[in-house]
Amino acid sequence: MQTQTHPLIAPTLGTARNLTSFHYGPGGGQKIYIQSSLHADELPGMLVSWALRRKLAALEGAGKVRGEVVIVPVANPIGLNQHFLGHLTGRFETNSAQNFNRNFYELSALIQPGIEARLTDNLDANRTAIRAAMREALDAQEPVTELESQRLALQKLSYDADVVLDLHCDWEAAMHLYTNPDLWPEVEPLACYLDAKASLLALNSVGNPFDEIHSFCWSDLRGRYGDRFPIPNGSVSVTIELRGQREVSYEYAERDAQAIIEYLTSRGVIDGTAAPLPALEFAATPLAGAEPIVAPISGVLVYRCEVGTWVDVGHEIADIVDPLTDRVVTLKSTVAGVLYARHLTRFATAGLEFARIAGAKAFRSGSLLSN
Ligand SMILES: [Zn+2]
Repeated sequence: MQTQTHPLIAPTLGTARNLTSFHYGPGGGQKIYIQSSLHADELPGMLVSWALRRKLAALEGAGKVRGEVVIVPVANPIGLNQHFLGHLTGRFETNSAQNFNRNFYELSALIQPGIEARLTDNLDANRTAIRAAMREALDAQEPVTELESQRLALQKLSYDADVVLDLHCDWEAAMHLYTNPDLWPEVEPLACYLDAKASLLALNSVGNPFDEIHSFCWSDLRGRYGDRFPIPNGSVSVTIELRGQREVSYEYAERDAQAIIEYLTSRGVIDGTAAPLPALEFAATPLAGAEPIVAPISGVLVYRCEVGTWVDVGHEIADIVDPLTDRVVTLKSTVAGVLYARHLTRFATAGLEFARIAGAKAFRSGSLLSN
């Protein structure tokens, strides 16, 4: 194992932060990149990274790690230090109001149009040429802020990985994941091992979140040049939502870390025989089919349905109770699917989006992610 330290731009006098990455295996084969807590207040993944590091150390000691596995347990030291009146604000940078998981460098745009002249009829050579162009483009960036330098440092560690896993969680949620539809055949075994209750597919949900920045580039290049040059999926990139924010436990961390180890074993990154593949309980659905449930009035939010359960059309999801008028509004699902996430709050403001159901039919367009 090798440890690397990546200094960020110092934001203020007397303050400096670093990213730390841990590198397992001899290199030379597949590269796997796993980071956690890019939204700094999402801690289940940090414990999974800790459990993964222990497992990888043992596997490396036994000579069983092929290729390279990179773990960045603390992907957002900026966000981890944003405490206000006892509350950790880890999703947005307080100085810029930017979401920590948006606005990554768009590799596809950065390597065009020069990449066209470097493509050939050889798939592997094209993968190598595209990655080289990505590296040159990232090296040419000149970040000014600490936040930009954090994004760039993460991308320099991950841009050439064959598999990128970004470990997040939701407020209250069942295990679910986001990935690119082109990658689904390669991601489905991971969803099975993790026992994901929803797998949400989107090519480009707008906003350049971390997982999409890795996969979209290859899909985009294939769309532009694929009729003339063979272009692979250079990065199997997935956002894993490790249930809800409070679901930090040794039991979950052990289970989820082992699921990732099984997936890496099935890919040949770790020597051995992977556990038998469990069946996937619920089929993948388009992210554009996910129905947000919205509170039409303000009031006390009373849930009537647990996350991870299948709901049919008309299923009662929650009530909004107004104690001043005695009005009770019941919100129902208009699609069938798994209720995969819901809000932490129990107080609804008018217009609050408080739950999401993984419907099978795409009906939304534009920006598909919440802020
Ligand atoms: Zn997140």
